[in-house]
Amino acid sequence: MSDGFDDRRDSRTVWRKWKARVRIIQVLEDIGRLAEFRVFGRRLIGPCPVHGGDNRRAFSVDLQRDLWFCFSRCQSGGDVIDLAWHLSGRSWSRTAAWLERLATSPTQQTVCSGHQLPANPTDRSFHPFTRRLSLDPSHPFFRRLHIHEDTLRLFEAGSWWGPGFLQGTVAVRLHDLHGHPIGYAGRRLNPADITRWGKWKWPPGFPKSKLLWNWHRAVSEGHGSLVVVEGAWSVMKLWQAGFRNVVALAGSCISPSQAQLLRLATSVTLFLDGDPAGHGATARSLASGFHPSLRAIYPPEGLDPADLTEPHLRALLKRT
Ligand SMILES: [Zn+2]
Repeated sequence: MSDGFDDRRDSRTVWRKWKARVRIIQVLEDIGRLAEFRVFGRRLIGPCPVHGGDNRRAFSVDLQRDLWFCFSRCQSGGDVIDLAWHLSGRSWSRTAAWLERLATSPTQQTVCSGHQLPANPTDRSFHPFTRRLSLDPSHPFFRRLHIHEDTLRLFEAGSWWGPGFLQGTVAVRLHDLHGHPIGYAGRRLNPADITRWGKWKWPPGFPKSKLLWNWHRAVSEGHGSLVVVEGAWSVMKLWQAGFRNVVALAGSCISPSQAQLLRLATSVTLFLDGDPAGHGATARSLASGFHPSLRAIYPPEGLDPADLTEPHLRALLKRT
């Protein structure tokens, strides 16, 4: 006897088409739950969106086969269509409309989605600033992060006491992929400014999504393997811990251009921040398989790699 479920599916080739186009991770992202998931090998583990419990290991997604299972209350699983059906109130018409939208919405292999940067660098022309500024490495901001003055001098970072673009920030020098200096970015320090404008101040038109910070130094080390973090301070802390092959995204989003650069490395280790944005980006990147040799490690919840001590960083990077 049939409950109509499978009959309904098998009778429509369109379901097969959507199954080929939509992945479970897209559904989780679309309902805003992806950041609650962690990657373990080829599995994505998190709380079950179907029964809604808070057991963070209840729901498992096999990223290779694109199948899910809930080991908790549901005790069942299936493919992306089954999941969408459960989540749309078990309505076939809503499931169909939802999958159609996901199948036809433009994705970029899901490496980077949602809050994409205004990815059009031709909107405003970028004028490189090549002059060297004299920055002060003794600011308390860096002492709090335990970034040493010699590290700051090497990476050309420090506070700027003069007027102009970098006023009220601690600055770090920017380079193109060949290592030519092209200006400075400023990390805002005033909490009200950060709330209003964000932590970082970038030069107008700066093609952030086309570059990876510290790329020229990391590739000159020549190991072929790269560690990817979100920000410059994490690069510096890892440098102090002995890791030279580290690049920063300048955000938690891996743009298509950045993914292309990273594909030049023989292996990539993602080490993004321990917050929802970092977790979401890690899960998305691993599911997209943008690199054949990709793994992820996580800092403790709520912390960035820059917050960790050098022994802690070494222990995390050695594992797996
Ligand atoms: Zn469940």
